[in-house]
Amino acid sequence: MELPRVVAIGSGIISGIADICIDLKLQGPALIVTGPTTSEIIGKEISKLLAKSGFESDVFLSYASRLDEVDRAERLARENEMNLIIAAGGGRSIDIAKLTSIRLDIPFVSVPTAASHDGICSAQASLTLNGEATSISARTPLAIVADTKIISQAPPRLLAAGCGDIISNYTAILDWQLAKRLRNEEYSEYAAALSSMTARMIVELATTIRPGLEESAKIVVKALISSGVAMSIAGSSRPASGSEHKFAHAMNRIAPRKALHGELCGLGTIIMMYLHGGDWRMIKEALFQLGAPTSAAQLDIEPETLVEALAKANEIRPERYTILDSGLTKRAAAKAAEVTGII
Ligand SMILES: [Zn+2]
Repeated sequence: MELPRVVAIGSGIISGIADICIDLKLQGPALIVTGPTTSEIIGKEISKLLAKSGFESDVFLSYASRLDEVDRAERLARENEMNLIIAAGGGRSIDIAKLTSIRLDIPFVSVPTAASHDGICSAQASLTLNGEATSISARTPLAIVADTKIISQAPPRLLAAGCGDIISNYTAILDWQLAKRLRNEEYSEYAAALSSMTARMIVELATTIRPGLEESAKIVVKALISSGVAMSIAGSSRPASGSEHKFAHAMNRIAPRKALHGELCGLGTIIMMYLHGGDWRMIKEALFQLGAPTSAAQLDIEPETLVEALAKANEIRPERYTILDSGLTKRAAAKAAEVTGII
């Protein structure tokens, strides 16, 4: 079980980043992996804060979620004999930092600028290789420094997407239980309980979680980290990724860049909950309250495209048994999407 050693969440907590590094006995120089926008928001600031405490650092600007960006970061880190990687940004920077750190076998600190997906804490990285989205095993961050002042100012869509990624734990757990019963798959009660509780909490708080509020940013970040911890306990992404994630990945394959990961996971959860015979209306209502999309039209996705993604979702990660293995026909997929009002 690999877990972060320090999780610091709070308003203005970024000012203590150098002290966190010192407490963890980390050594510079540090490579700060960030994006062109996030560099202005936080990347340069981290560099200044580290310099004050005698840490040398260099900023690496990432431009795309591609594996060759990891090669570029790795080269720079090797040339400058970096001892530490700090990711300051959203999904892209964090994923690149995660993989660079494992290649160099040096620690990495995650500084998320948005609460948009559970990758801020997980050991999985999702990057594009030869045009295909691939999930690669990396490492859990040694520390997470989540500044709610910064995160609360991220675009509202990102927070809603993060909630969609957490709510997807509902169907991920149902799929896991199915695999346990039908395939005798290894199952962790602790991981499943933590993952379910986290999703339930977001549903219960759906009417109070609002973008721009630091308290909301705090709740969602904590929930994303809890999902990450559940995955660490399980030793796989099982507690937070089931049939709804397969649908999200299939959508990205068929119609790339239409929507955010968490938005697709949210839509997928409504449909998969229906297929499981569960309370899909509760999921849909919560997503609606959170401002997340609850129909294909809101994401400018054609009904045919959505049905095709549903019918092909089972081709993604076929070794992971889910409700889709019962054999979802295209007609039944269309019906499920219609009944739930997705199309
Ligand atoms: Zn996810």
